[in-house]
Order: sequence, then structure tokens, then C-alpha cells
Amino acid sequence: MKSADVIVVGGGPAGMMAAGRAAGLGASVILLERNSRVGVKLRISGKGRGNITNTADIHEFVQSFHPNGKFLYSAFSRFFRDELLDLLNRLGIETKVERGGRVFPVTDRAADVADALHRWIESLGVAVRTGTRAKSVAVEEGRVVGVELYAGRIKCRAVIIATGGASYPKTGSTGDGYEIARAVGHTIVPIRSALAGLVCAEDWTKDLQGLSLRNVTAKLVFEHSGSEASVKNKPRAVCEEFGEMLFTHFGISGPIILTLSRQAGELMNKGYVWISIDLKPALDHEKLHARLIRDFKQTKHLRNYIPQLLPKRLGEVIIELSGIPPDKPVNTITAQERAQLVNLLKDLRLRVLRLAPIEEAIVTAGGVSTKEIDPKTMMSKIVKGLFFAGEVIDIDACTGGFNMQAAFSTGWVAGESSALYVKDICNKQLLSSNVLSPNPT
Ligand SMILES: Cc1cc2nc3c(=O)[nH]c(=O)nc-3n(C[C@H](O)[C@H](O)[C@H](O)COP(=O)(O)OP(=O)(O)OC[C@H]3O[C@@H](n4cnc5c(N)ncnc54)[C@H](O)[C@@H]3O)c2cc1C
Repeated sequence: MKSADVIVVGGGPAGMMAAGRAAGLGASVILLERNSRVGVKLRISGKGRGNITNTADIHEFVQSFHPNGKFLYSAFSRFFRDELLDLLNRLGIETKVERGGRVFPVTDRAADVADALHRWIESLGVAVRTGTRAKSVAVEEGRVVGVELYAGRIKCRAVIIATGGASYPKTGSTGDGYEIARAVGHTIVPIRSALAGLVCAEDWTKDLQGLSLRNVTAKLVFEHSGSEASVKNKPRAVCEEFGEMLFTHFGISGPIILTLSRQAGELMNKGYVWISIDLKPALDHEKLHARLIRDFKQTKHLRNYIPQLLPKRLGEVIIELSGIPPDKPVNTITAQERAQLVNLLKDLRLRVLRLAPIEEAIVTAGGVSTKEIDPKTMMSKIVKGLFFAGEVIDIDACTGGFNMQAAFSTGWVAGESSALYVKDICNKQLLSSNVLSPNPT
């Protein structure tokens, strides 16, 4: 195909949904994907299991995208979780709900969702051109007229940019959409990591690399710096998460840390941020003291006791941080030393320096400004016939399937609006040619 009504740039969840919807409404559609297959990021999402949406209601969804959540109200109202699951069901994908309302395919294979969507769009006549990278959008008199490739141009009446963010660039999402949009006059809100591991000052995390902890609580602790420091007071816990986390070579990561990272990123510009880990959330300070006193009666040395309480490597770090000699007989440990141990177990504190680089982030914050996109149609307010969908837009949410649903919802709306836009200009052209024609038929 040398031309089409609609060209979709990017074959992720947003692009495939957009292409399917536009083709379903009768538009001729070409989907350009730079990779050799569609949905590469979708295939690895949720550790390959694909947390595609969430059972939360629309208000919680909108809140999870703070501060730009309101932009998504319209798209969610048109095509939300039930519509998505209904469509996937018709495509043979059954789903299940897990902790926190997370929805996964029953097969635990995100690739099944990608393959089903691929089959769906091809069955609707979408021409999927893999291995094809778009360079820019051709615009004449304020309207889209085509897409420039690295070799040639394809003519079209509408373009949907669904190129994703800039994280995990090996999946094909290298941030091309930002440049494409900028070149035609769009504002790009500076991109940064969202949902990323936290780089910490403490060197000892390297010794614990790969160690994951379950059933711990992590608190985000914040202290204002500069002039605001005098107004606000001491470090305070801002929010907390319970669940699983992981030590890495650079600091900490894992589900609860990713969730906290969004807020950590925002607060880092205003002051100092720490993560306080409660390794024994089921026991309060008093109960933990009592347990140590009881246990110390049955053990000789601290080194031998700690593995009963913690994974060995972490235990060694805790003993070192406590400053208590590991071979010290436990019956000689002072009340002060015991209090120090309890403090470390209840409040293991790490100073957060920054978020892990965008390449390692799960989602990109920033992107095409929502102020320049009509939320009802996803059409650009700057260029007629240009639409946006998915992560390329300045929207990002916490973990739980919210980001993927936003990609599907904005994709659906962009696909529908682009098809209606093309119909509309075709009708107008027809009308004007009939009016101008000496013998209108
Ligand atoms: C490891 C990981 C796990 C994740 N897990 C989850 C999860 O479980 N649940 C969830 O909700 N979210 C998850 N996410 C986030 C989610 O995958 C994304 O938000 C979602 O894929 C965004 O969809 P998209 O279609 O906008 O962009 P993408 O999925 O990034 O797709 C964009 C596509 O555009 C193509 N492209 C880019 N530039 C061009 C160009 N110039 N020409 C042609 N093609 C181009 C890319 O190759 C890519 O295929 C995860 C992300 C990562 C990295």
C-alpha cells in the first residue's frame, strides 16, 4: 500500500488498539512498527505475565495518573476495562484477577494478548509493516498529508503517534514520538523515569544484590530543604507500601519500591528522600524487644542467632550496621545494643540519591503535553489529522495495570476519532466537488 486513510506509528498496545478500531470503522490503515514483530514491550510486561488492567473504578484510575489523570476521563468513559476484557474475550483471551485488583490473562502469558491483537488487526485488513521506522509526519497547511520514512513517504489523511515512551529502549520505544511531535510544533514535557528503582547512597546494597524480601513495609521519608525547611519540620513519612522488594547493585527495586518511586521522583526536587524499611512489620518495637530477649536466652553468639530472624546476607549487614561484634556472646549484649538492633530491624534507612535511569524505568513520565491534545478525540490541537495514543503522551501511573489500560483506552479513542475525521474530510470534499460541479449528481 502506497497510501492509506490512517497510518499508525507504533505497534504496542496503544497502536494495535488504534489500528483495529480505525479499520473496524472502515478506514484503510497501515501500521508501522520498527521492530520485526509487534508488541515487544507488551510481551515482557508484568514479568511476561501481562498485567493488562485493574478492577479499580474509573475514579481510582484517574487518581493513579495524578496530576494528569483528568485528561483520561473521557477516554476511560468511552473504552474502559469492561470493554477491553470483552474485546479480549472475543479474541479468545480469558483473564483472572489477582491481589490488588490486577488483571492478567489466565495463561499467564502476555504474549498471548499481543498475538491475539495482532491477529485481530490483520483480520480487519490493517497492513502491518514491521521493520519500518517512521521519521516524521508530513504536514501541509496545518493538516497531516503523510508519514516520512527513512526511505520514502506514505500518503495519508490521519496519523496516530503511538510510539511509547523512552524506557526499555531495546523494546523499540526509543522516544522517536517526542521528536516527531516536537518537529510539528508540540511541547514535550521533559521526560524522566517513573516507576524505577531507587539509587541509594549506601554501598552495602551491592552485597545484597539479587536478594528479594517479602512481607516488608517500605516508607517514603521526606525532609524539605532550602527555604521551605524552616516552614516544614523534620523528616516525615509520606506514604508506605507493604509487599515485596529487591536489593540491586545500585540500591533498591521491586514492586513496592517501584510504586513509591513515582512520589520519590516528585519529592526529590524539593528536599531529601529516604526509604525506611520495616523488616518485621508484624511485630511492633515492644514485641520485637521481647522476642530478642527471649531468643537471646537460647543462643550463644549474635552471628548464630541472626539467620533465624533474617536472610543470612542481610543479617550480616544488620550486624555490621549495629556495630556489635558478631562474636559477642548474646548474654553480654546491653539494652542499648538491643535497642539499636530493634531500630535497624524496624527502620533500616536508605538515603535516596535519584531514580534509576530512564532506560531501566518501567514507565516514562513526561511526553507530549496533554494541554495540546483534545481529550475527547486524542487529536492534536496544533495539527489537524494528527492523533496521539499511549505512553508518548504526558501520562503515567503507578503499577497495577493502569498504564496498559491507558494505552488501550487512548488507542481506541484515537483510532475511532481518526476514522471519523477521515470520513468527515472525505464527505466535505465530496460535497464541495458536487457543489462546484456544473451537473451535480
Ligand atoms: C519491564 C516492563 C514491564 C511492564 N509491565 C507492565 C504491566 O504489567 N502493566 C502495565 O500496565 N504496564 C506495564 N508496563 C508499562 C507498559 O508496558 C507500557 O506503558 C505500554 O506498553 C505502553 O504502550 P504503548 O503502546 O504506548 O507503547 P509501547 O508498548 O512502548 O509501544 C510502542 C511501539 O512503537 C514502536 N516505535 C517506536 N518508535 C517508532 C518509529 N519511529 N517507527 C515505528 N515504530 C516505532 C516501538 O518499537 C514499540 O513497539 C511495563 C513496562 C516495562 C518496561
